[in-house]
Amino acid sequence: MKVTENVYGLEATKGSYAYLITGEETVLIDTGRPGQGNGILKELDSLNVNPKDIKHILLTHHDVDHIGNSAQLQEITGAKLWSSREDLPYILGELKRHGLKKVIGSLIKVKLPRDIQTYNSTNVAGNIQVIETPGHTPGHVCLLYKDVLFAGDLVMSSSKGIKPSPGIMTWNKDKLTDSIKKVGALNFTWVCPAHGIPVKKDEGWML
Ligand SMILES: [Zn+2]
Repeated sequence: MKVTENVYGLEATKGSYAYLITGEETVLIDTGRPGQGNGILKELDSLNVNPKDIKHILLTHHDVDHIGNSAQLQEITGAKLWSSREDLPYILGELKRHGLKKVIGSLIKVKLPRDIQTYNSTNVAGNIQVIETPGHTPGHVCLLYKDVLFAGDLVMSSSKGIKPSPGIMTWNKDKLTDSIKKVGALNFTWVCPAHGIPVKKDEGWML
């Protein structure tokens, strides 16, 4: 699914979308649920993207439906894999996930990636800006590339527009609300959530 000139939502990860940015640097944002890695590789091929072209894999947060294929894809692409410092211990299994996610995390096995960098400045790769948006998880981030916001699980979209990600999955609701306000003040046209489909910000950024 093409969003803008250089931005694609990967159909192989439909339901928990990973996104691809091509252009000066090829970047993957999130990696879908466990078991979708081969589908992602096939789709890259159909987009004429050599896996080795991917220089960075940026994770929005630690949930299993976002880090699911990070180990496999890191191995095959040789890309640098990035997460926030706060979410890293959950990815590595050093800290237990919160609430319902503790159960989900114990049921779904994810191969752990070997080598993860933590976001240490506002610019990680290409022209991508990392925006700290805690709430859904302690270290959730959104990523901003030109006029496209990769929202991770800060918000989701449906036919009714954009809404906050559900409370039952939220680590801290007040922080989520603050993060939605903070991001709402930024300039961008497209919102690319993991859950739902890309929508325009002016179709109803809430709060
Ligand atoms: Zn998710």
